[in-house]
Amino acid sequence: MQNLNFTGTQINYYFVCHRKLWLFTKDIRFEDKNEYVQLGRLIDENTYKRNKKQIEIGKIKIDFIDNKGVIHEVKKSNKIEKAHIHQVKYYILTLKRMGVENVTGEIDYPKLKKRETVLLTPEDEKEFEKIFSNIREILDKPKPPAVIKKTICKKCAYHEFCFA
Ligand code: SF4
Repeated sequence: MQNLNFTGTQINYYFVCHRKLWLFTKDIRFEDKNEYVQLGRLIDENTYKRNKKQIEIGKIKIDFIDNKGVIHEVKKSNKIEKAHIHQVKYYILTLKRMGVENVTGEIDYPKLKKRETVLLTPEDEKEFEKIFSNIREILDKPKPPAVIKKTICKKCAYHEFCFA
């Protein structure tokens, strides 16, 4: 079975904005200066400290695995929940392709005091084949896809770059 070649961030960005996915993959980065990204990092570094142990497996970085074997991803807001869910489903799929079966996931929103359980279904696995082929198509483009002009742009690290 084939191992997967994308990072969780790439899967996430595919659901947020194809332009963002393209720019990020081509190493055009502004994340360090963006206040929302800094806030996310701060939450990520200061919550669930007892469990905290980021795990890097191939291309994926799992925030932590609890004592029940559930993988966790910590997020600051649920505004792009679909992207978060697919990121965790992708982690579960990656582990499955590595021979680790029956893994489940959880997205933790400490600021919202909310948790979301994530499972990988056979339909998700089929959907991912389409997602991977779409991502390859986007990344093969010589120029970044057009700006999406959505509310999410205001908090995006690429805002100045896209709208200057
Ligand atoms: S500012 Fe908007 S168009 Fe530009 S990368 Fe971010 S989300 Fe995409």
